[in-house]
Amino acid sequence: MSSEASLQTDPTDEKRFKGHDMLAPFTAGWQSTDLHPLVIEKSEGSYVYDINGKKYIDALAGLWCTALGGSEPRLVEAATAQLKKLPFYHSFWNRTTKPSLDLAKELLETFTARKMGKVFFTNSGSEANDSQVKLVWYYNNALGRPNKKKFIARANSYHGSTLISASLSGLPALHKKFDLPAPFVLHTDCPHYWRFHLPGETEEEFSTRLANNLENLILKEGPDTIAAFIAEPVMGAGGVIVPPKTYFEKIQAVVKKYDILFIADEVITAFGRLGTMFGCDKYNIQPDLVSVAKALSSAYMPIGAILVSPEISEVIHSQSNKLGSFAHGFTYSGHPVSCAVALEALKIYKERNIVEQVQAISPRFQEGIRSFSDSSIIGEIRGTGLILGTEFTDKSPNATFPPEWGVGAIFGSECEKRGMLVRVAGDSIMMSPPFIISPSEVDELISIYGEALKGTE
Ligand code: PLP
Repeated sequence: MSSEASLQTDPTDEKRFKGHDMLAPFTAGWQSTDLHPLVIEKSEGSYVYDINGKKYIDALAGLWCTALGGSEPRLVEAATAQLKKLPFYHSFWNRTTKPSLDLAKELLETFTARKMGKVFFTNSGSEANDSQVKLVWYYNNALGRPNKKKFIARANSYHGSTLISASLSGLPALHKKFDLPAPFVLHTDCPHYWRFHLPGETEEEFSTRLANNLENLILKEGPDTIAAFIAEPVMGAGGVIVPPKTYFEKIQAVVKKYDILFIADEVITAFGRLGTMFGCDKYNIQPDLVSVAKALSSAYMPIGAILVSPEISEVIHSQSNKLGSFAHGFTYSGHPVSCAVALEALKIYKERNIVEQVQAISPRFQEGIRSFSDSSIIGEIRGTGLILGTEFTDKSPNATFPPEWGVGAIFGSECEKRGMLVRVAGDSIMMSPPFIISPSEVDELISIYGEALKGTE
């Protein structure tokens, strides 16, 4: 490991001990309370700049979200025009706004893996997944199935950080110290073939074993108590876990057999990230419910949404007189400015054939990074489209550092020094560059990755 490896994150470096007034999300004490954070001030295409003018390639597209990069004028114009015309009106009690009606229609037309019926708007991915649970409970109550309320999610998954979405998530850090997960949430296996397959087990056999484990869990709990199964088509924050061969085919068969709803959490994977418009298209998933957020507005405004199957929305509509209205929603559900920006983002994705663009650029990205697979500190590099994770080996060369720093943190710091921002999680790092990244920017990203690797080895 290079002697400079820890310069950026060394807590003994006085320059980094500035302190600030934010209780920062997902930030450990050693990064936040006393340590000077990296302050980003400006963005331009695939790059962001800090307050000192230093330029970074934004290899995570913000937080897996600025799909169109940091300076798309059409999104700014869409927001400005809507702000001038109608900055806000709500969508409660049969009142609404034109941008929210138009966006709901557009979303239903954009999702083609199966026909969906209605759209419910939220402000984030967490709220979308929270709302999924309430919607499914309401649905089962309407159908007279009050015991069918449990949810099955997967170890290592990330579905958000509100009480319910953190409960659905399968990352221990989200549960520890928060008295979570809530008791109605169960977790089944993470489909991480490289780490969890048995000696000699093929990907197909691994998928069969996981599907059998899921079925056994359902039978043990009682199928009549399980309401829904939730999964990200490709796990993001859990380390970029691409499903092994035949996984979703087998999982869907089990879920269907026991009349359990399938929720696709497409918060990261929707709108082109995987080289298909949705992850459901890529893995042939026929969901009952879908969560989207992030690239929906290319992150220029906060917005999330749930796509609801016609069968479920039918029941909710027809039963709401009997059960009382679907008493759930947020002041900003369907915020007109967020919806106007999202409508423009969807228009741009279509006009610029963004899916084809991701398909064209992603082999350069995936193959370029995989060329480092032989490094002695790399365990596995995996990904698809414009999402990629690197898992470092267990043989950590950083034994003298606090455990939470991990090889990932050292590598992340080496990237930051050289002008690139990646996501660090323990011994993994993740990347999901903007969809508009150019071939020369991909080459720059690969070159910085290689240099950072040398600095970490
Ligand atoms: N679901 C997935 C798959 C995510 O990756 C995220 C955030 O990264 C969320 C849900 C939560 O979204 P938000 O941070 O907008 O609440």
